[in-house]
Amino acid sequence: MSESATPGAQGMTAAVAFAGMRSVTPVVFRAGCPDCRERFELTASALRLAIGATSRTTFYSFTCPACGAAVRKPAGERIVELLTGGGVRTLRLHSTV
Ligand SMILES: [Zn+2]
Repeated sequence: MSESATPGAQGMTAAVAFAGMRSVTPVVFRAGCPDCRERFELTASALRLAIGATSRTTFYSFTCPACGAAVRKPAGERIVELLTGGGVRTLRLHSTV
């Protein structure tokens, strides 16, 4: 009686989960101007995100389309995720060495 030994090397197939998920849908972000109190929707290209060393120095900025004021607002973790996911240009103020 001979035992048939099956080799343990089975072909591993790596499932590519992200295949076909590269299409980018335009995202609009709702924002308000503290100066003129205008509310508007901004596209990702109108926003800029700056990530600092701490959450205190992490903020997003945009120019108010109504009055032209440069608005800067603190960005929490959630907002950072939202903005980067939406394709907002990100500027890293702090470089981790
Ligand atoms: Zn304004």
